[in-house]
Amino acid sequence: MASVGNIGKHLLVCRKFSQRSLSFSTSLSETHKLLMKTCRDFAEGELIPHAATFDQEHKYPKDQIKKMGELGLMGISVPEKYGGAGLDYLSYAIALEEISRGCASAGVIMSVNNSLYLGPILAFGSEKQKELFINPFTDGSKVGCFALSEPGNGSDAGAASTTARHKNPGWILNGTKSWITNGYESEATIVFATTDKAKKHKGISSFLVNKPIKGLSLGKKENKLGIRGSSTCNLIFEDCEIPEENLVGQPGLGFKIAMMTLDSGRIGIAAQALGIAQASLDCAVEYASKRSAFGAPISKLQSIQNKIADMALKIESSRLLTWRAAALKDEGNKYTKEAAMAKLSASETATFVSHQCIQILGGMGYVNDMPAERHYRDARITEIYEGTSEIQRLVISANVLKEYGF
Ligand SMILES: Cc1cc2nc3c(=O)[nH]c(=O)nc-3n(C[C@H](O)[C@H](O)[C@H](O)COP(=O)(O)OP(=O)(O)OC[C@H]3O[C@@H](n4cnc5c(N)ncnc54)[C@H](O)[C@@H]3O)c2cc1C
Repeated sequence: MASVGNIGKHLLVCRKFSQRSLSFSTSLSETHKLLMKTCRDFAEGELIPHAATFDQEHKYPKDQIKKMGELGLMGISVPEKYGGAGLDYLSYAIALEEISRGCASAGVIMSVNNSLYLGPILAFGSEKQKELFINPFTDGSKVGCFALSEPGNGSDAGAASTTARHKNPGWILNGTKSWITNGYESEATIVFATTDKAKKHKGISSFLVNKPIKGLSLGKKENKLGIRGSSTCNLIFEDCEIPEENLVGQPGLGFKIAMMTLDSGRIGIAAQALGIAQASLDCAVEYASKRSAFGAPISKLQSIQNKIADMALKIESSRLLTWRAAALKDEGNKYTKEAAMAKLSASETATFVSHQCIQILGGMGYVNDMPAERHYRDARITEIYEGTSEIQRLVISANVLKEYGF
């Protein structure tokens, strides 16, 4: 069973310490520091050496995901009684950043399983659903997925056209869900479908569906710009019958479940973006200290130093926002605005820092002998999924205006 104990055990056998400083770690508890080191060691030993292959071959990192499960990383905030590691959300953010620094594809697979799949079942599922749909999905042998988006609506998720008809007993699903991460490998999904079209978003309900199942087929594997080690595809439901008890929560609660799930998911995407940004900064600094031009390392040039300063500043400030949003969630406070701020800041930081990294590497930034171009491609998605940057700005401004009483 995955647990904090596994993490401690793993630490004992970890010999190699990263030389890079643990920024902000002075404010972290011993457990958080140990977790950070465990994940960093794992990323350096098991992810960084293979990340380029996963990207180039569009290869799912199956063995690594299994090992991450054994470390407790695939159900990190799930209580131990359901097979999880029982850690807090700050732990999740710390771990996901380190994993994504090693491989952004492993990062998104971990993020979808933890926050988008297990998260809503934990918060809204029945005991029976938790037993069936959480327990087998925490040790890395099985992963889940989250099916909200459709070909006709992504940002406007309340306009879902997939339907769930009550058969009494049971439900019949029809419609297409698009862009589903882990679509090929997942063995269960939480899916959002309308049970009462007249009620618009208040008529959406959520269901758990085992995969494979009769009436559910997969679309082609999308050929993506980045995070190419993860699969993305359509889920096509055609008269797919599921049991009555697979409804999560009450009929009509689906949109609320989806929005609450995305609030926590955004902390995960912020952490993923931070990992990509940190990997880009690591790459840029190392290269700048070794590459000479005009008789000295380019790190001695002030314009390169200015870039490094801006990159580090954006990373550190986004990390603070991300950890703050996670801490607010852990304390049981509202965190919708803060999670949106963290995601917006960290994703734009990942785009900025990976762009600057290529600039610092010059020609070497543009070819896949170095990881810079992969980080640049991986960074871009963090501004799109789980709410685009435009949607994050809407969420932030709506909350700010509310705070002012408007
Ligand atoms: C690789 C990948 C993986 C994904 N994984 C999943 C997954 O696992 N599960 C899932 O359900 N979905 C997933 N998605 C879908 C993703 O969440 C959507 O692509 C995203 O929410 C944007 O929706 P859209 O693509 O339909 O764009 P649209 O909603 O059509 O938006 C297009 C543009 O219009 C802007 N826009 C839209 N509405 C507004 C507005 N009100 N104000 C200002 N600007 C606006 C957007 O910001 C964007 O710039 C994934 C997508 C990708 C590419």
